[in-house]
Amino acid sequence: MGEFNLNSIRIGIIGTGYVGLMNGLGLADFGFNVTCGDVDGCKINGLSEGRLPIYEPGLGEVFERVLGLERIRFTCDIETLVKESHVIFICVGTPPKKDGSADLKYVWEVARDIGKYIDSYKVVVDKSTVPVGTARKVREKIQKELEARGMKIDFDVVSNPEFLREGKALHDFTHPDRVIIGSDSQKATEIMKKVFSPLKLNEVPFVFTTPETAEIIKYASNAFLATKIAFINEMATLCETVGGDVKKVSKAMGMDGRISDKFLHPGPGYGGSCFPKDTRALADIARNNGSESLVISSVIKSNERQKMRMVEKVKRAFPEGLESRKIAVLGLSFKPETDDVRESPSLVIIPELLKCGALIKAYDPKGIPQTKLALQNFESRITYCEDEYETCKDADAVLIVTDWNQFRSMDLSKIREIMKGDWFFDLRNIYTPEEVEKMGFYYEGVGTRRKEPGNIE
Ligand code: NAD
Repeated sequence: MGEFNLNSIRIGIIGTGYVGLMNGLGLADFGFNVTCGDVDGCKINGLSEGRLPIYEPGLGEVFERVLGLERIRFTCDIETLVKESHVIFICVGTPPKKDGSADLKYVWEVARDIGKYIDSYKVVVDKSTVPVGTARKVREKIQKELEARGMKIDFDVVSNPEFLREGKALHDFTHPDRVIIGSDSQKATEIMKKVFSPLKLNEVPFVFTTPETAEIIKYASNAFLATKIAFINEMATLCETVGGDVKKVSKAMGMDGRISDKFLHPGPGYGGSCFPKDTRALADIARNNGSESLVISSVIKSNERQKMRMVEKVKRAFPEGLESRKIAVLGLSFKPETDDVRESPSLVIIPELLKCGALIKAYDPKGIPQTKLALQNFESRITYCEDEYETCKDADAVLIVTDWNQFRSMDLSKIREIMKGDWFFDLRNIYTPEEVEKMGFYYEGVGTRRKEPGNIE
């Protein structure tokens, strides 16, 4: 391994967002010395002063622990990070461009930085979700910078896609279903095995493959999960139309081991920083390579339609129109246990209801600051509240958009008392129609036959 000592690997993370921070803290907790870098000075200052920029259960304790042990530091000085690290993880965002393709400008920036500053052998690890062929292009960009410097330095590029789920990131870091190492270099593979060797204790399986296959595995996995969600949402619509109960359908489907019950919960459509952008990027990659994916294109359309169907449910309940109706929205983040609102169904549903003249009262345990930023154009017509009860006060309808635990056992009689109207839209199916109707509400979930007012036995 030459100058590379497998027992004192120093890790550099470029891009200290959800993925970079989780990996940085997790690897520091494993005992590595880690430097997390970012161009966002505010984020880096906050982290250096002990403030986490994201909400993620359990992360605070790990953060305090590794800070106390001085195993991690935060910096905007990417040059020093590159020079001092042996293994450099690229964890920057890969947001969608207007045409749906992945915007790789941050990845290229980092590749150029690495090429400008490396002075000894490095393993460059691409953790960002990227199209097929990106590892090869990262290599070319680093090489080009080295040539411009007139330097010959050995390095390897590895694809190591991330599968963590926000809200469960800590568990997923220590207990991933698998670790994918996409590498053409035996030396880099050995180093990656060492970096993730603590996971062996948890019997985590490793998949060794080429960078290209690793890149496809990530998109294929996310697209498949998105497909399951879109599929069960379509079954929910069918159940609403013909009078079935989608909860039973999904439960019974999930009992088939070939199908599994995961990701078979109907709802307002998938959101988040990954599924929407990754399905669009995969559709773009397939199209550009002459093998258009009819499945993925349909999943994307189906998911957009699902969000709009939720708006239609509310509109149908108020045939005289939504003008000046107060709608209480519970849950803004794209799923519980995270403050992330990127592509959250709430960011589609709220503006659509506002367009119809509704007034929105909204609450989320963690997602309000991010929602305020995302919906700042609508600021004057959204009232952000302190809790679920304040949100429901005087509302004509309540809409559960995210299934935070604290919405699962609300005092329904209190809510019925303080609300002006009587519509209860449970877009996550966390209540049974019976228990809600018992309180005098009209209940509407996703995938059970709707009972029209006047049609309740
Ligand atoms: P994020 O937006 O939370 O963080 C990205 C960070 O990179 C930001 O802090 C940004 O300031 C920084 N950055 C941008 N350009 C930089 C540069 N040139 N140098 C240094 N820092 C730079 O993104 P994220 O959610 O952590 O996602 C990162 C990647 O991981 C994406 O490709 C995403 O698809 C993938 N991913 C995300 C998740 C998830 O749940 N968030 C899960 C799996 C994979």
